[in-house]
Amino acid sequence: MRTELSIEFFPPQSAEGADKLRATRDQLAVLEPGFFSVTYGAGGSTRERTFATVKEIAAAGYEAAPHLSCVGASRDSIRGILQEYVAAGIRRIVALRGDLPSGAGAAGEFRYASELVEFIRAETGDRFHIEVAAYPEWHPQAKSPKDDLAAFKRKVEAGANSAITQYFYNLDAYLHFVDEVRKLGLDTPIVPGIMPIGSFSKLARFSDACGAEIPRWMRKTFESYGDDSDAIRAFGLDVVTRLCEQLLAAGAPGLHFYSMNQAAPTLEICRRLGLTA
Ligand code: FAD
Repeated sequence: MRTELSIEFFPPQSAEGADKLRATRDQLAVLEPGFFSVTYGAGGSTRERTFATVKEIAAAGYEAAPHLSCVGASRDSIRGILQEYVAAGIRRIVALRGDLPSGAGAAGEFRYASELVEFIRAETGDRFHIEVAAYPEWHPQAKSPKDDLAAFKRKVEAGANSAITQYFYNLDAYLHFVDEVRKLGLDTPIVPGIMPIGSFSKLARFSDACGAEIPRWMRKTFESYGDDSDAIRAFGLDVVTRLCEQLLAAGAPGLHFYSMNQAAPTLEICRRLGLTA
């Protein structure tokens, strides 16, 4: 059976970045991903750039899925964005709460992603396939694992079709999360989010913020390589390829790559997995 792949980009900030992303996208297209998704900056800060990037991907003949976050937004502004995406022929959305920059007030008409999913369904019916976020190592603000599972269930009950996880390097966290979701009677596909490792220091900073754990054995090994970026890259590729192998063997329904707008790591991992079309 073919492994479903999807690949995430962030919207470029400059004309040069847009050129580079076009080249990256065309390189990654050999993997024949089900869709390319495009992130959405906190509080709508990339609204125009996300839209432009999504439209361009779609115009090039690929399936494009915008991310849309709701914290700090009004119903009217989200309605306007949905209408733009309907007019552009988009059929898939990644619906998120998002995070406001620290210090920003909690103004806005949505509190949780489940409310956004509900709103998208109320406004646009079955037009969109809705993806939501899932957290095998639990969302950093969740009161408890049980509460986080209940929040996930609420998103599915509001109309989400499938989920993409935060990245993780602990296979058991994903397997446990899927088991817990199944125990709730939900058969929602839960696609693991895969973060290739280019720079360990960047990854470590980012992981602290989003609550993804870098296991001690990995951290110690990366640290032992110091500035040797070739060794870091080689170890990162080995670890992430092995994780993907184990996930697919355990029945993961696909892989979602956080590409960071780079083609090479995703291509190399998929080549090693034998997924290159
Ligand atoms: P929610 O599902 O609303 O959950 C947020 C928190 O609230 C959790 O702790 C949950 O347990 C809790 N909660 C939910 N409902 C309730 C309730 N009714 N009562 C009490 N507690 C509740 N961020 C961006 O800004 N732009 C992006 O493009 C983006 N893309 C992402 C893509 C993926 C695949 C993932 C995994 C994350 C992405 N994020 C993005 C990050 C995401 O916005 C943050 O992790 C954010 O903090 C939570 O978003 P969520 O949609 O999971 O929120």
